[in-house]
Amino acid sequence: QDYLQRIEQRDDQLNSYITVASERALAQAQAADERLSRGDASLLCGIPIAHKDLFCTRNLATTCASKMLANFVPPYDATVVERIDTAGAVTLGKTNLDEFAMGSSNENSFFGAVKNPWDLDCVPGGSSGGSAAAVAAELCVAATGTDTGGSIRQPAAFCGITGLKPTYGRVSRLGMVAYASSLDQGGVMAKSADDCAILLEAMAGFDLKDSTSSGHPTIRYSEQLNTSIAGLRIGIPRQYFNEQLDAKMAGILQQSLRELEKLGAQLIDIDLQQTGLAIPAYYIIAPAEASTNLSRYDGVRYGYRCDNPKDLQDLYVRSRSEGFGKEVQRRILVGTYSLSSGYYDAYYGQAQRARRLIAEDFAKAFTQVDIIASPTTPGPAFGLNSKTQDPVAMYLEDIYTLAVNLAGLPGLSMPAGFYDHRPVGLQLIGNHFDESTLLRTAHQYQ
Ligand code: GLN
Repeated sequence: QDYLQRIEQRDDQLNSYITVASERALAQAQAADERLSRGDASLLCGIPIAHKDLFCTRNLATTCASKMLANFVPPYDATVVERIDTAGAVTLGKTNLDEFAMGSSNENSFFGAVKNPWDLDCVPGGSSGGSAAAVAAELCVAATGTDTGGSIRQPAAFCGITGLKPTYGRVSRLGMVAYASSLDQGGVMAKSADDCAILLEAMAGFDLKDSTSSGHPTIRYSEQLNTSIAGLRIGIPRQYFNEQLDAKMAGILQQSLRELEKLGAQLIDIDLQQTGLAIPAYYIIAPAEASTNLSRYDGVRYGYRCDNPKDLQDLYVRSRSEGFGKEVQRRILVGTYSLSSGYYDAYYGQAQRARRLIAEDFAKAFTQVDIIASPTTPGPAFGLNSKTQDPVAMYLEDIYTLAVNLAGLPGLSMPAGFYDHRPVGLQLIGNHFDESTLLRTAHQYQ
């Protein structure tokens, strides 16, 4: 009740929720009370959380912040939702995002932009901007997010919270509406690494219904948090900390690296030579996959349908033109072009080769170090509407986060300090399935 009241009081200003599920939340809370009175030991029992509105929730609208799905009510729960529900958590509602998770500012939402709780004139980041703003403003305890190229880490940094994108395959994608399937991964956003660990424990693990989910054993992340990081080798990529990095950002991050050194970690300079390939490779591969994934929204089976179509062609064209926002249409066009015969090898094939080089770069680095530290973003949260007219300027915001998805690695952003009054994050990148080291490093730093 307390959280629902807070949402009612504050969310008109922030717009972090698309749907508030009051009745369902109160019923779940009551069930949790009963479980607790029977001595249920689950740490998540009764904890009010929110889901990014990209996760399917049974009998609860799942819009993907798109007009296309504005009235879509799924008949099933995403595996992530089902597992968190089973642990007894209370779902307060569904959070705002960039349409179909395409964006870095949460301004591409059919339901309007989200505002950054630290500065209402700034964006909260995206695409999981609603989840980040809701956690930061205490409109939920923790939230789920998804990360295809930075969508958990970048908004976490902009809103001063902790966000973890697990290794590709660590968390089931069943019921998580697809953007770019080879990059998409669900994850967690909370005030602390500790809370992230608890939520990840509930979500992670093999799912028979997602063939890309991994059978690699999960561990009790929350029990590893206090294992000392003395002797941990942290790689500092020269290509990330160079003269292009804003001097004030560099100063803040150096300070947090020194704190990690005080905890016993060892900083080692490394090279990630292929860093420059990340933006071009990602912005070919992600739209290519998006163009095929989004072909299912044809106005026939479900989702938005235009009024009075003349014929089938008109139904397709108008339903998609009216149902999708501008950025989504841009990506479908770019993706369709790069997959077309004649251009496939020049664009998509090349991008796949670049992706391989990026993955090899990381593999080499992990023979020298245990984790890698970098900025999460080039700077603090930027002003609302300051980049909406220039898609390339928006894409450049993702420079530090994209490579992690291309290589399928886990990445975490933790609060590192303030740039004037706006929070900034330090990103920690781990080797495959080593979420634990990221979480305990962040925990001990915090
Ligand atoms: N900003 C990136 C994009 O627009 C990443 C988004 C995401 O991780 N979902 O594609």
